[in-house]
Amino acid sequence: MAETKLMVWIDQDLCTGDGICEEICPDVFLGRDDGLWVVKEEASHFGSSIIFDGKGAPDGSRGVARVPDKLIDDVVEAATECPGECIMIEPYDADTVAKRGT
Ligand code: SF4
Repeated sequence: MAETKLMVWIDQDLCTGDGICEEICPDVFLGRDDGLWVVKEEASHFGSSIIFDGKGAPDGSRGVARVPDKLIDDVVEAATECPGECIMIEPYDADTVAKRGT
């Protein structure tokens, strides 16, 4: 199980759909079939894969993915480069993770 200090989610209302986030950090960001981007947790980091796409798991502000510590720099870079300014980074919070319903 990866160590994690941060979590990340995307405000899809602001996403421009350019995919820069996935180019920078494909382990955390994924394009959805409607042309907007979502976050995910990879099994290689957390033991099981979860895609926060509004189907199997919530999207938007309830679709909060844990960030493996070794990917923090990449996720921060993605948030900095994101033209929609819609990549939201928060401190890790166990209660928020428990409320995701995943
Ligand atoms: S970089 Fe931002 S605006 Fe671009 S696809 Fe990713 S979340 Fe959407």
